[in-house]
Amino acid sequence: MNPQLTSTNLRLYSNSIVNYQDVEYGLASSPLGPHLVVLAPRLTTLLEAFKGESSEFNDKTLLVGSQSAHNASALRAQLPWLQPIALGLNTSFGMGDRLGIATPGHVRAVRVVQGRIFPIFAQQSIREMTRTGRTPQQVMDDATWGVFEEGWRGDIGADADHLKTTDDIDACLVAGFTLFTIDPGGYVDNVSQSDSLSRLNEKEQRLPVHMQLKQTGLLGKTFNFEEIQIELDEPTLLKAMVKYGNAIAHVVTMVEHLQRVAKTHSFEVEISMDETELPTSPADHVYIASELQRLGVRWISFAPRFVGRFEKGVDYIGDVHAFEADLTIHAAIARQFGPYKLSLHSGSDKFSIYPVFMDQTHGLAHVKTAGTSYLEALRTIAATDQELIREIYSFAQERFETDRHSYLISAQINKAPETITITDWPGLLNQFDAREILHVTYGSVLTEKADGVKLRFYDRIMSILRSNRELYYCNLENHFRRHLTPFSLHI
Ligand code: ZN
Repeated sequence: MNPQLTSTNLRLYSNSIVNYQDVEYGLASSPLGPHLVVLAPRLTTLLEAFKGESSEFNDKTLLVGSQSAHNASALRAQLPWLQPIALGLNTSFGMGDRLGIATPGHVRAVRVVQGRIFPIFAQQSIREMTRTGRTPQQVMDDATWGVFEEGWRGDIGADADHLKTTDDIDACLVAGFTLFTIDPGGYVDNVSQSDSLSRLNEKEQRLPVHMQLKQTGLLGKTFNFEEIQIELDEPTLLKAMVKYGNAIAHVVTMVEHLQRVAKTHSFEVEISMDETELPTSPADHVYIASELQRLGVRWISFAPRFVGRFEKGVDYIGDVHAFEADLTIHAAIARQFGPYKLSLHSGSDKFSIYPVFMDQTHGLAHVKTAGTSYLEALRTIAATDQELIREIYSFAQERFETDRHSYLISAQINKAPETITITDWPGLLNQFDAREILHVTYGSVLTEKADGVKLRFYDRIMSILRSNRELYYCNLENHFRRHLTPFSLHI
């Protein structure tokens, strides 16, 4: 039966129309932006959950409402597939969206691998939220609207990324996130590798009592992982303990807090150690996993700091064979201690390692991407408004030396194309240095004000993307198909 909504004179996004329990829902475009429309039998109370204008249509009631937080929440309550869930051990892929309008493009890309790779559309670290001035609830709601617009009905997760404090947990829990990525990076001792044995002993004594050597029961233990043997002799164990002991204690505090406040809300936990200076050695991994287990933590994925360089928005830098060798051991450890997934952070554009990542983990894999969707937004702007992209690029070059600080990147300003020489602006988005420069300056670009009041770029960026939405979605779809294909081929 044809949905009755289509006989209204509303301009509906066709993929959004859905009939569920005798009520029709859809998203309609209007000069003021997309609007929620709901058509329901007259006597139903379901419409009371929404805010908007009601009118009679045939023998039904038609409600037209804004894309508000209130309506997003009501929509999630009525259409259960819009609610994020815990994705478990399924191969999963995170597509963070700093601008809040990329999800329809992500959905289109993921559609071809539906049922094999499970998407996370709402994914943002607290750092990204601070830089873009968004709240966890906005991140969640933007993803909800995008999923609804494209009519995606598969399982979805929602990743509250790089949480550092219990306040971070509380804010993300209320917003409905289901994957809590705990980042104890601030508690990692990055210099333990070069400490002397006596210095290590001293530091070990300063760990919380429940983290000290005697409690671990690990001294001298040998672990066998398939072909590989790892022995925790005194120097190896002490280095791992000093490096990660306080971090593990912090994870325990965070997870206990999460369990306490989550009550019936279902959730899963990722532990991320990827933002440390030195790679996580296999012995470190064994220590971390056994300690977390001893202390009663359950987790679904772990992000070690792998060997090589994982820079933002560009391919893996390093020896792919060395990465594979390192990964093989980490994957074996994850299978034996869990199984749990290995998580690849700064995971976008790492085309040269996706096949081995999928192979070696046997699909117990998660990948996180975020800024690469912002770069596709800039590619869209480059194709439609050269004045604006030129201005953004010049500003990004000015900001680069300051903004690069919290990132591991090797771009150099003098290697990036000079503005006056550029003729192919979309092509700029394929150049290594320019990509990194544009990538790390997103926060400055999105929040920069002209004359201290009006946002200098943000409104223009959003307006161009909104009026060229099909092009933006198409760029995202192409870009993410390239990411997802290697994972779907290896299942
Ligand atoms: Zn990370």
